[in-house]
Amino acid sequence: QAKGNGRNRLEYFSDEQARELRDQDLIERALRVSLQQNYFSLVYMPMFDCQTLEIVGLEVLVRAENLQRLGIGPDRFIPIAEKTNLIKEIDLWVIDNAMARLVELQAATGFMGKFCINISGVELCNELFPAKVKEIIDSHGVDPCLIEFEITETAFVLDDIKSRTILSELRNLGISLALDDFGTGFTAFSQLINYPADCLKIDRSFVNDLFSVDVARHKMVRIIEDLAELYGLRVVAEGVETKEQLEYLQEIGCDWVQGYYLSLPLPWHEMLSLISPPASVAK
Ligand code: C2E
Ligand code: MG
Ligand code: MG
Ligand code: MG
Repeated sequence: QAKGNGRNRLEYFSDEQARELRDQDLIERALRVSLQQNYFSLVYMPMFDCQTLEIVGLEVLVRAENLQRLGIGPDRFIPIAEKTNLIKEIDLWVIDNAMARLVELQAATGFMGKFCINISGVELCNELFPAKVKEIIDSHGVDPCLIEFEITETAFVLDDIKSRTILSELRNLGISLALDDFGTGFTAFSQLINYPADCLKIDRSFVNDLFSVDVARHKMVRIIEDLAELYGLRVVAEGVETKEQLEYLQEIGCDWVQGYYLSLPLPWHEMLSLISPPASVAK
């Protein structure tokens, strides 16, 4: 009988649990290889002014090429990177490479929109993070006002002195902050005034439910919009997939929109030609 015998502990895992562990282990190894061999890449999702539909920003999204081929994206590998502490290296890699691209994009097109970069909540416990960020930004000579960090609502822990300090250090550098996936956490709305944030990104599940028969969910987007206006926060709706959703968001005065209806995340060269004015046609 294996009971109580540490060496046979694996027997207590179900097949499914064992597979899950194996998968996590494989993903962790793939992420280490990606860091060593530079298999990470970035794609760019355009963000549009809700009324004029001009491109006003780009959300930077990471891909691990060796995992992408297996259909494994950041939704799956970022949590594993967080557990294994690889996320710190990945976040810095993303910031460094995004800054290099931002400089290139500005030189090629004069783009003055924001670069919105997702940052793991893990960084809010990492006192070294703001100084590292400053070093990277300075080394590229980028204006910090063009950078926004997106942090999921659930990671914003305000009662923790350390995370508050880190957030305000980032903001003091001139970087703006967005609460990502807003509405999925448990922020008391009255607390919003205390958040060192500039922007709310309405989680795409709410946009998806805009015309749902469930009135409470249907109304969420408008409630968040009103609230954000009250507190002077920019509102970005993510996950816009239909014309009807876009028109509703225009009607209620949402600021920015992004989603498959407007543009997929694009690789660098496609994004560049989307933003470049068509030189030969211009008069
Ligand atoms: P997020 O920041 O909420 O990013 C939006 C995700 O929703 C992206 O998936 C994007 O492709 C997808 N999306 C955007 N518009 C639509 C739409 O209209 N319909 C649908 N169905 N999906 C849409 P992606 O690239 O797989 O990223 C997933 C999550 O992984 C991100 O969620 C973010 O939390 C995290 N992530 C992505 N890149 C990075 C990164 O560089 N660093 C860190 N720390 N996290 C990242
Ligand atoms: Mg995001
Ligand atoms: Mg989001
Ligand atoms: Mg999301």
